[in-house]
Amino acid sequence: MTDNPLADLKTSLRGELVTRDDQEAFSSARFRGWNRDLNTRSNPLGFVIASGVRDIATTVTYCRSNDIPITVRGKGCHSPYGMANDAVVIDLSKMTAVRVDPEKKLVAIQAGADGGDVDHETALYNLICLTGSVSHTGFAGVALGGGMGHLSRWLGAVVDSIVSYEMVTATGDVVRVDEAQDPELFWGMRGNGASFGIVTEFVLKLRDMPNDGIIRSAPILWGEDKAREVMTPWLGRITRPERKETETLQFAFLHAPDGQPLCGVIPLIVGEAEPAAKATCDELAAYGGGALVRQDTQLPYTALQAALDDCFPYDRNYWDKGVFIDWDLSDANAANSIVDIAVKHWSEKPDFATKLSTFLLFMEVNGAVGRPDPASTSFAARTGRLWCTALTGWPDEDDSQRAASRKWCNDFVEKLRPFHVTTYLNNAMPESDAEMLGVFPEDTMRRLRALKEKHDPGNLFKTGAWQYQANM
Ligand SMILES: Cc1cc2nc3c(=O)[nH]c(=O)nc-3n(C[C@H](O)[C@H](O)[C@H](O)COP(=O)(O)OP(=O)(O)OC[C@H]3O[C@@H](n4cnc5c(N)ncnc54)[C@H](O)[C@@H]3O)c2cc1C
Repeated sequence: MTDNPLADLKTSLRGELVTRDDQEAFSSARFRGWNRDLNTRSNPLGFVIASGVRDIATTVTYCRSNDIPITVRGKGCHSPYGMANDAVVIDLSKMTAVRVDPEKKLVAIQAGADGGDVDHETALYNLICLTGSVSHTGFAGVALGGGMGHLSRWLGAVVDSIVSYEMVTATGDVVRVDEAQDPELFWGMRGNGASFGIVTEFVLKLRDMPNDGIIRSAPILWGEDKAREVMTPWLGRITRPERKETETLQFAFLHAPDGQPLCGVIPLIVGEAEPAAKATCDELAAYGGGALVRQDTQLPYTALQAALDDCFPYDRNYWDKGVFIDWDLSDANAANSIVDIAVKHWSEKPDFATKLSTFLLFMEVNGAVGRPDPASTSFAARTGRLWCTALTGWPDEDDSQRAASRKWCNDFVEKLRPFHVTTYLNNAMPESDAEMLGVFPEDTMRRLRALKEKHDPGNLFKTGAWQYQANM
């Protein structure tokens, strides 16, 4: 006899079962996740490191029979909600295969893969599948919530390219979900994909990458004292009506490796002749009386995708909060006000913050993201012009540092309230039903609730739209 409620599961698995009985292995599984602070707040029952689909189906059936809740996480493991107290964590980090069909321009991605795994394989054929903008972020987590990337202006949201999902249902069955077989579930999966089952594989359409996968990118940087003089013309530049969707210009407040506070424009120009792309960067670099440093160059798209990775190391304390905004372009005060908020908020960042990981990010997410009918997917964040995020890290296990970091990020979003359009499940960090309504409109929520009731009536999966409740 044993008190371990997972004891009988072990013999049915080909993968590994890690339980609290083995504290060393348990701790290393628990702290494999990206955000140390949130890992400390979540104490699961155990981890199943799945070898394949069968381990997932076996674990789901076992947990359902024994009334044990389930969470899921992939190799990326960036979200706090991949774990929950007293739940079994199904860990897909061994399931990272990516198979490209260059003839059909399709890619099949095992659900444990991260963005880097995907980019690595698709680049072999000069094809592209949109992934997150940090290559160690899990593909699944990004895709299940909607999926924004550096090139979303051109490629839309990740969900817009999804053809089908393979998933394990709450009954332990393995099914394929696509538009033809179950349009309502397919709708719900594309925006709140984590709630209804465990996805084991995604199939997506690929696009051709022009110029052999070489783009013009990398930051153009100024000292933070130039922020107003740079951000103001940048905001004017990105609202020009004639712009191509293959041009994306991000703006950020950040630090140099030596800790110097900076601001920068990060151009991402795809498929343009090099003289024209460089001319755009020359125009940007002239802002604020001239850039301090120009790093913009021609580089492989895959190198750009990995460029930010070291700013976000694993097993550190982080908080981030984001919102989508837009403003009346005929109102000159609106743009000035956004600049004022940004400059002032940056000046108020916590002085203990981990400099390398502290950012205010203003990412362009319009263009192709806004084109589909908003009702065509449950992903609802289609009308924003900019995705604005505050992200910071703190060095010590210290509640006051945590509170101040969280406040700095949350306040940023609050200050932008006059310009809010919507929020995005994947970085809204919603902490209440009211905040969740900023992610999914009431009508969308109603359909999602009906899907949850149909596909997971026992609320076995503590993931997706209601994930903030997992550790309440
Ligand atoms: C440094 C950083 C950069 C980011 N950049 C971007 C970006 O550019 N674009 C963007 O859109 N978002 C971005 N995000 C937000 C990101 O989309 C979310 O944090 C996402 O949840 C991370 O996914 P993951 O797979 O790494 O995390 P995980 O913790 O593994 O999973 C995230 C969520 O999905 C669930 N889940 C995971 N796999 C499955 C599955 N197979 N089936 C069902 N449910 C599953 C988990 O239970 C959890 O709720 C970024 C986040 C960070 C920390």
